[in-house]
Amino acid sequence: MTRNERTLTILQLYPRDMNIYGDWGNVLSLSRRARRHGYATRILDHNPGDEFPAEIDVLVGGGGQDSGQSVIQEDLHRIAPHLRQMVEDGTPMLAICGLYQLFGHDFTTVDGEVLQGIGVFDAHTVGGTERLIGNIVTESEEFGRIVGYENHSGLTTLGPNVQRLGTVVKGEGNNLEDDHEGARYRNVVGSYLHGSLLPKNPRISDFLIEAAARKRYGDFTPAEIDDALVAQAREVAAGRPR
Ligand code: GLN
Repeated sequence: MTRNERTLTILQLYPRDMNIYGDWGNVLSLSRRARRHGYATRILDHNPGDEFPAEIDVLVGGGGQDSGQSVIQEDLHRIAPHLRQMVEDGTPMLAICGLYQLFGHDFTTVDGEVLQGIGVFDAHTVGGTERLIGNIVTESEEFGRIVGYENHSGLTTLGPNVQRLGTVVKGEGNNLEDDHEGARYRNVVGSYLHGSLLPKNPRISDFLIEAAARKRYGDFTPAEIDDALVAQAREVAAGRPR
């Protein structure tokens, strides 16, 4: 098989109900970047009630209102055993905001409703009365500086069996108490950052693509990609030094 016959299949989880603040852009960006690394891409959607497709290489899911989270909750639990198996098998995944919360143990809304999560992340979320809104900058040992935009009221606390994705430099992140943002477990990245996240943070895209390619094809040779425009966008999003 030649290099350009290699295909990576990206699954977007719940694009109908969980797709706000440009989160669909993560799928487009990931697909485009994978193509620049020499892979063909196939994008599939999974919405509530759909048969879960086989042969998925990367899974991406976005944010949603509390109401959207309620709509997808039952289906998420239906496919949860499969998702957890994929996580343990090393399938790369990106879960943003509302889906990130449901990748934890539970989300107790401000009205006291408990939405059970699927426990990929050792994390609990509780709805707050204040919305955390604005541009956010974090530092990650793995990915360097991560920039984005947050808009959530849920406050997430990580347990001992999960790592933070980044340490907040500007903005709020997981909660108002500590400086954690997002979560990392196996090849799964959880984050509150919209924006979309991936166009401005290509190191996370490259991580997802590399993990997917190594799992499917056993190797990964990155292409050299000119990220000058990305650098400009990151600078604007992070805010120039005064
Ligand atoms: N409903 C959740 C919250 O406000 C998630 C919001 C989102 O996905 N942006 O905490």
